Amino acid sequence: LASRDFKHENSTVQVGNCVIGDDQITIVAGPCAVEGREIFLETAWAVKKAGADMLRGGAFKPRTSPYSFQGLGEKGLKIMAEARELTGLPIVTEVMDQKSIAMVAEYADVIQVGARNMQNFFLLRELGKVNKPILLKRGMSATIEEWLMAAEYILGSGNPQVILCERGIRTFETYTRNTLDLSAVPLLKHLSHLPVMVDPSHGTGKRDLVEPMSMAAVACGTDGIMVEVHPDPANAWSDGPQSLIPDDFSKLAQKVRHLKGIY
Ligand code: PEP
Ligand code: MN
Repeated sequence: LASRDFKHENSTVQVGNCVIGDDQITIVAGPCAVEGREIFLETAWAVKKAGADMLRGGAFKPRTSPYSFQGLGEKGLKIMAEARELTGLPIVTEVMDQKSIAMVAEYADVIQVGARNMQNFFLLRELGKVNKPILLKRGMSATIEEWLMAAEYILGSGNPQVILCERGIRTFETYTRNTLDLSAVPLLKHLSHLPVMVDPSHGTGKRDLVEPMSMAAVACGTDGIMVEVHPDPANAWSDGPQSLIPDDFSKLAQKVRHLKGIY
């Protein structure tokens, strides 16, 4: 179902006014985690002014250590919903398990499946029954084939609204958090009709690499980018080193749009 052979034309996914996969760049931005109401609303307005199309934020965080901040849960979802009311930006947020699907679907415009859950087949099957777009991140050691098969689980249980998101894979390199596999973008475009996005924040783990890799992603034909933005990265509760301050995000968004205009 994910294959180009099955469906020749590009699929698009509509979220509010944005159409992902329609030869535009969809820019998703926001903090790694929702940390509190005020800081989230401040960030939401900042990314809106900078020209983001959608707002991201985690309420359920898949943290390596069980002692790290796990997210605000439903309280975080409510804060995101308020930010959507105020700014008009649709929200993208992660679901981690089947039992939270109904709750997350009540608030989210796009439901994210994180890298760590890419092969949680029971979760994928359940998300196939939800009438919301699913942003399916690449597993950190998943091949393209495995990733497309994960998409197949969602599509096969009835939900055609799947967006693939490259977020880097684990390699022997340690200077970057992950190795962002940009070749996945043109490859997926060849193999599949599904829209493709790139997350250069998790893909590199380093804020200075976010802009160059965003530009490269546009050159590779991505349908969108997802960027972590925080007003005070040094004090962020998660992923500060890869988060941009709003001013830098604003410059990035302009450059990306300009480059897309050239292509
Ligand atoms: C995220 O986007 O917040 C996230 C946890 O990403 P990933 O699943 O790609 O690590
Ligand atoms: Mn993060």
